[in-house]
Amino acid sequence: MDLIKASALEISEAVRAKKISAKEVFQFFLKRAKDLNPKLNAFISFNEEGLKQAELIDQKIAKGENPGILAGVPVAVKDMLCTKGLQTTAGSKILEGFVPPYSSTVVERLEAAGAITLGKTNQDEFAMGSSNENSAYGIVKNPWNPEYVPGGSSGGSAAAVASRMAPIAIGTDTGGSIRQPASFCNISGIKPTYGRVSRFGIVAYASSLDQAGPMTNYVVDSALVLQAISGHDPKDATSSQQKVPDWTKLVAGDVKGLKIGLPKEYFADGLDPEVKATVDKAISDLKQKGVTFVDVSLPHTKYSVSTYYLIATSEASSNLSRYDGIRYGLREKSNNLEELYMNSRGKGFGDEVKRRIMLGTYSLSSGYFDAYYLKACKVRRLLQKDFLDAFKLCDLLLSPVTTSPAFRLGERVEDPLKMYLNDIYTTSTNLAGLPGMSVPSGFTKSGLPIGIQLTASHFEEEKIFRVASAIETASNVADRRPEC
Ligand code: GLN
Repeated sequence: MDLIKASALEISEAVRAKKISAKEVFQFFLKRAKDLNPKLNAFISFNEEGLKQAELIDQKIAKGENPGILAGVPVAVKDMLCTKGLQTTAGSKILEGFVPPYSSTVVERLEAAGAITLGKTNQDEFAMGSSNENSAYGIVKNPWNPEYVPGGSSGGSAAAVASRMAPIAIGTDTGGSIRQPASFCNISGIKPTYGRVSRFGIVAYASSLDQAGPMTNYVVDSALVLQAISGHDPKDATSSQQKVPDWTKLVAGDVKGLKIGLPKEYFADGLDPEVKATVDKAISDLKQKGVTFVDVSLPHTKYSVSTYYLIATSEASSNLSRYDGIRYGLREKSNNLEELYMNSRGKGFGDEVKRRIMLGTYSLSSGYFDAYYLKACKVRRLLQKDFLDAFKLCDLLLSPVTTSPAFRLGERVEDPLKMYLNDIYTTSTNLAGLPGMSVPSGFTKSGLPIGIQLTASHFEEEKIFRVASAIETASNVADRRPEC
């Protein structure tokens, strides 16, 4: 079996059919990930215990039991997710050495489905970033060209899957962190509807926006992984009671008769011509399959980045107050309690995290609350309404993920505003709580990947998977792997 090309679905079927053992699969990926990691820096740590878990899966199969839909599939888990007994840093120095006493629901569900944690992936500190240059554990490189960023904040997960260090990964998406790196690395990544996936045991960045989701080489694997991790969890009060459909069966469904909206604000000036050409190609491919297109408008799009950066930083300033040098991770020597807080937080947090804590604290402070945080909450409502109005005219939306393909390492680090503007097409999806996916659809002449974004109404992931699968078939780039 070609483990570099095979889908996770094929791997788990082969494991269950005893064509290959879970142990062999795990050994293969652990070796490959360790060999490539010095080049890409996609992993912060590896799960050495994984081999024993693989043996247990093989024993279950030998006894005739079914270990689950992800039997023997190694999974690269973003370091935002707590993993029992395995260091979880969220990309921050302040959590260095923190070993959680329990696993996040997502990781528990993956394991219950037979998947095995391969390691923890690198990311922007506390998921704050769009390039993976804000990690306390070093930058991650784009496997398609090491001079370029892999995207962020789930850059390690994207680089790991694109280069096949792992067949599947988990990312988190607060304002684009699954979709943007997926598009920069030629993989599929879906941010589910808010509430679809439990946030229990995931390090909180902005709780009203955060969702975890799959990052995979193939659309069918995103469906498979999402199926494994979705569903109500009594440990997360915001998790939904909605039924989880059998998405893998629906993926290759017909797209004929679907009506797709093209939001005109997402095709504004400044869109890279190669990105535009790729989107146009996908549109004409889908037309041939019987999809119709309609122009729609999301008039408040121009406020999405500012609204996002007010709400996300406000929530972050509150969420990150728990890192006090006492309860978790780093503790700096100090003479008194106040100094302990200041020294531990001062040394433990990186510059971008400090910038955001200050921004968020400011926007929540009395005197400014009404003008900033409250105003942003009202605009959020308008952004949501834009989408709901658009979905009266169409089934789902198609757009670019970002205005350009991956940018060069270092190009935007000095200019936070330029970095934030990268999130223009991804943040409103989170503000509105909608599901959104990036699917591989082409390459630039210089060999950088380009993804396409699909956005649907709440809990309509099924439509996204159908269209994504049609784009994947037509573009035929999902099984390309970088030379690295
Ligand atoms: N790039 C955005 C930010 O920096 C989104 C990050 C994310 O989705 N976690 O906040």
